[in-house]
Amino acid sequence: MLPAPLTMDVRRGAVAELGALLADSRVATSGRVAVAVGPGQGDHIESLIAPTLGEAEVFRVADGTVDAAVSLGADLRKGAYEVVVGVGGGKTIDATKYAASLAGIPMVAVATNLSHDGICSPTASLVYEGGKGTFGVPMPLAILVDLDFVHNAPKSLVRAGIGDVISNLSAIEDWQLGNVERGEPIDGLACSMSRTAAEALIGRTDSIESDAFLTVLAESLILSGMSMVVAGSSRPASGGDHEILHAVDQLFPGTSNHGELAGIGAAFCFFLREDHARVQQVVGCLRRHELPVVPGDIGLTEEQFAEVVALAPATRPGRYTILEHLRMQESEIRDRVGDYVRAFAS
Ligand SMILES: [Zn+2]
Repeated sequence: MLPAPLTMDVRRGAVAELGALLADSRVATSGRVAVAVGPGQGDHIESLIAPTLGEAEVFRVADGTVDAAVSLGADLRKGAYEVVVGVGGGKTIDATKYAASLAGIPMVAVATNLSHDGICSPTASLVYEGGKGTFGVPMPLAILVDLDFVHNAPKSLVRAGIGDVISNLSAIEDWQLGNVERGEPIDGLACSMSRTAAEALIGRTDSIESDAFLTVLAESLILSGMSMVVAGSSRPASGGDHEILHAVDQLFPGTSNHGELAGIGAAFCFFLREDHARVQQVVGCLRRHELPVVPGDIGLTEEQFAEVVALAPATRPGRYTILEHLRMQESEIRDRVGDYVRAFAS
């Protein structure tokens, strides 16, 4: 059995036609619908959906914290809503996902940005007590991506989604390594979905200005999220690449966003695997979309990035990746980081 959203729709003007989706009796029967919007574009979104969603109650999600999600969850429970629609970027969608799971109701995700594969994943990444936690939640019941909004989103955030998708290729290598070296069970369907998502994107010569490209990017991010549902873990979309990302977030918070870091992590992991063809392909793709490749591109020194690589395995205990496999000493890490920078600094 394959869990999947009821509908998946990627196009311009999707937000304005939300009413049609919610009229689907599989989504809502009695019509008690709550809509959650972020602080930034809340008014604009509200005016767009008002004509088709007159009676829907609109809630503002303050930010991507556990507190904001818990408070929305309490509102949803009090109002006895049948479904909640989260409209916005990653933070709003994640907070709404968690709130929906607390209230025990399904959630419809309407993405206005494409910065990472969380739009359709079974997890919500939320801030609490200064740190970031990942919480298991049900996958959205339906997913819409509005390309009008994506075109207006900050370019760097949309490009970041490319890095997150491309990192799947590295994550799958790590999963296969864990399978061979540690006998870890591997899920062929999850691998195929996650890999297909990345392969669909990596060779494209157009970029985020094109609707065709954004459509594939959206599909790839959604497919990545679904691969995690199939696998029952983030394994098919998170390996050494994401361990590096988490280590950057821990050691040097605020350095860069999720997708940019995942892209650098993937390129560096392929470099460690000495997979020359793949590392060239990954670096070429990142460069083509103006994504960072070497630590200097995100303002980190070689020394700092070596610290990151040394800490990375500790960020996901139990996950076997190329980093755990090589068990490099600090001096070796410094050498490899130096070689990587010399090879790919522009
Ligand atoms: Zn990711």
